[in-house]
Amino acid sequence: MKGRNLLMIPGPIEFTPEVMAAMAQPTTSHVAGDFVECFGESLEMMREVFLAPSAQPFILAGSGTLAMDAAVANIVEPGDGVLTVNSGYFSDRMGDIAARYGAEVTNLSGSLGDIPSADEVRKALQDGDYRVVTITHVDTSTGVMADVEAISRVADDAGALVIVDGVCSTAGAECRSEEWGVDIHLTASQKAIGVPPGLALLTVSPEAMEAFRSRKTPVPSYYAGFDKWLPIMEAYEGRGPAYFGTPAVNLVAALNVSLGQILSEGMDARFERHHRLARAFRAGMRALGMDFVPAREDLYAPTLSAVYYPEGIGPDLVPAIAAEGVMTAGGLHPQIKEKYFRVGHMGAVNASDIIATVAAVERALKTKGYEFEPGSGVAAAEELLCR
Ligand code: PMP
Repeated sequence: MKGRNLLMIPGPIEFTPEVMAAMAQPTTSHVAGDFVECFGESLEMMREVFLAPSAQPFILAGSGTLAMDAAVANIVEPGDGVLTVNSGYFSDRMGDIAARYGAEVTNLSGSLGDIPSADEVRKALQDGDYRVVTITHVDTSTGVMADVEAISRVADDAGALVIVDGVCSTAGAECRSEEWGVDIHLTASQKAIGVPPGLALLTVSPEAMEAFRSRKTPVPSYYAGFDKWLPIMEAYEGRGPAYFGTPAVNLVAALNVSLGQILSEGMDARFERHHRLARAFRAGMRALGMDFVPAREDLYAPTLSAVYYPEGIGPDLVPAIAAEGVMTAGGLHPQIKEKYFRVGHMGAVNASDIIATVAAVERALKTKGYEFEPGSGVAAAEELLCR
């Protein structure tokens, strides 16, 4: 018996054996030559994965929320206008962080399952004085994907800096940071980056670094201050030892392996694989009579699906799916928490994982007495995977 479940939640995800083997290497000194090389190389690969060739990368020990905190703490000053293009729970969090640092925050929200359009963002930017625009690329509570390219261009036109929360998208959904005018692209290790939880990752554009350097007030966070971390990142990239806070040595070793795997797949191929698998998963759910939280096809994320339970079925479907060997996640958005579940399909996920998940959903639905033709979801998913 395999004795383990397939992990299909929206992070942490399943990691490759090579990444797990890197985690298990003996922990070395954070100033040892081989670790300095590993850290320096990881910073260089981050620029390629984040598609941000001129940016300053940061690798910090912490979760995705630390990356959000660092982004805001370093470029926002008290009284700054921050426009949060809001698509759910994690967009709210970004607004809360900005408010905590003294910003005047405006939440521009669409209806649930939607996100304001680039035109609406343009209008909001004309009507107010904003220094920063925040975008959640994929909001993990709704599965809604933002059009980062269009919104960033509008923000750029208005002279605002753009922060993109890519925790549920980076290295899974296309984000051409530099080309699209994203200033801070942040993520965490445990999702499509493919490394166990514990690393906060950011790439910061020259414009955002300039905004940090020309602050009138000190960075109000001690641990997250770029003033503390920039010399460390520069030292590691120059292949020299440095210390401010002890880095997560084994996680950085794993990051080095995972970034290498991501780049050897190739960014375009990787984005396309995520789309293909997501389309197959959605076809499976649709064939079983289920619908999705995002209001329209163009909002569907390649990394995560938020699926409404069918008529007569509720949150006890999630443990029933787990009993069939696949772990999925319940609802998160407070307004619809009991009405939907979430399935992550990112990182090392493959076609067999998609089929296994659709099949487990089918068996779980049967235990709940839901009427459908067994195998119809699997067939619909497989049909797309065979194309
Ligand atoms: N932003 C998004 C879009 C997320 O999905 C998450 C985590 N699910 C976070 C931020 C926060 O990350 P963490 O839980 O690692 O602090």
